[in-house]
Amino acid sequence: MAAMVPRPAATLALLRDTSGGPQVLMLQRTQNAAFLGGAYVFAGGALEAADDDGRIVARVRGLFVPTPPVAYWIAAIRECFEEAGVLLACDAQGQFISAERAAALAHYRSRAFAELLQEQDLYLPATELAYCGHWITAPGRARRFDTRFFVAVAPEGQLASHDAAETVHHVWITPREALERAARGEIELVHATREILGELKNFASAGEALRHVRALKEIEENRACLALGREGEKVFRRVDPQYHEIHWSDPQETGATTYDLVAGEPKRLDRWVTRLIAPNPGMMTGPGTNTYIVGRSEADGERAVLDPGPDIASHIEKILAFGNIKWILCTHTHQDHSPAAAAIKAATGAQVLGRPAPAGQDATFKPDFVLENGQRVDLGSVALRAIHTPGHASNHLCYLLEQTKMLFTGDHVMQGSTVVINPPDGDMRAYLQSLEKLLDEDIAIIAPGHGYLIGAPKKELRRLIAHRLAREEKVVNALVKIGPASIEELLPLVYDDVPVRIHRVAARSLTAHLDKLAADGAVRAAGERYSLVKSRTAG
Ligand SMILES: [Zn+2]
Repeated sequence: MAAMVPRPAATLALLRDTSGGPQVLMLQRTQNAAFLGGAYVFAGGALEAADDDGRIVARVRGLFVPTPPVAYWIAAIRECFEEAGVLLACDAQGQFISAERAAALAHYRSRAFAELLQEQDLYLPATELAYCGHWITAPGRARRFDTRFFVAVAPEGQLASHDAAETVHHVWITPREALERAARGEIELVHATREILGELKNFASAGEALRHVRALKEIEENRACLALGREGEKVFRRVDPQYHEIHWSDPQETGATTYDLVAGEPKRLDRWVTRLIAPNPGMMTGPGTNTYIVGRSEADGERAVLDPGPDIASHIEKILAFGNIKWILCTHTHQDHSPAAAAIKAATGAQVLGRPAPAGQDATFKPDFVLENGQRVDLGSVALRAIHTPGHASNHLCYLLEQTKMLFTGDHVMQGSTVVINPPDGDMRAYLQSLEKLLDEDIAIIAPGHGYLIGAPKKELRRLIAHRLAREEKVVNALVKIGPASIEELLPLVYDDVPVRIHRVAARSLTAHLDKLAADGAVRAAGERYSLVKSRTAG
């Protein structure tokens, strides 16, 4: 059963400056309200058909952005007037209406908004609003709203007053105090309201808050979702690692998909792809290696196995149970990704594709066909494109599924842990270049070698690059501070934020960073010690 379509809505957080910092206007909804009864909210409500009325749209001034559509801006201003009695309007000359005039117009609160604007010749200054949030109610609620949040500075002198119908109380309060009162259980705030207050509490003035919001490049959609698992039905939000996978595998929002990562239980991710987690959990493998079965799900569909995983009999048995396996593809040849290929080939005669193992890796991996960067693999019903991404391993390939733009990243991008770069086969310089290379691709979602599907791929790739460069900066700063140093001397300075038990692994990454800096010409190695190369022009 598909969830009901959320109704478009708009809400406006009005701010005013006080000696104790900016306050926000909050209204308490009546306990009888069908939605959020009793909760404290910003003025707002569902869009009305009239919010698209050409007579009102023609009176909007200064709206230069395409999203959200104009009706949301109108609804935010209209609801603020109807619910809170504060009118953000100006006259034909662009002058804000006075507090006296606004007070005299109070009788329009229960009438059509278009009548007010036309009869009084008023205009709506969209420039005064800043769009700050997009929140969609989780499925399963009696009512669902797709709400755009705005902030604005309250017009000078206008007094707020609740409408005594939908809202029974109003209060000007600092965001911090509202959050504290909610934490003490004195008032009820819903999730989206708390999130917006959490952002607003950081500013010293209303103007500063508005400038911050206006500078935001992108407002992310927060579409809470439901899924099933060991702890029963649960709600997930954008910050949760399961969020994007739930949306991808349950686009109809039925709430029937699962949120647990369970080895040995195949999970259908979409029409073409099913994931089977190998029973090899651990510090380096997370919940276990993700094996992906790619191709049509129908019984007679030809299938590919992507990263067959470790040579574990029970895992291989479950892969073979899918039947009709024609291809075996590997991202790379570490022990947790490729060793099962040999047994699956022996059982099915499938063609093995990938790049040969460097010395010291899975020597049983023998590709029938060596893939080069950019090569297309036709799997009948779907096609993959191989992208050479050295760094974690020199022979590492990512695969982009053309039909859905799902990118299989093996260990180049993982969910839930940091990729190990272990020289000499691991190469930090190549790794960063390979991450940059993926920024040029059109990717909808990342299917990693370990963990959940990863959404917002470009954002994640940029985050990974920034994370490594920040670590590199710590290496340089440590060398500046203590002069020529050994790996052991640098470790506690560069990895002061990771537990000591991880330091053995971190030492490998540190070596990788130093190798990159040496390749960049920034660091020189002499025996066990590394030193910064002084810039020649600096003298
Ligand atoms: Zn690996």
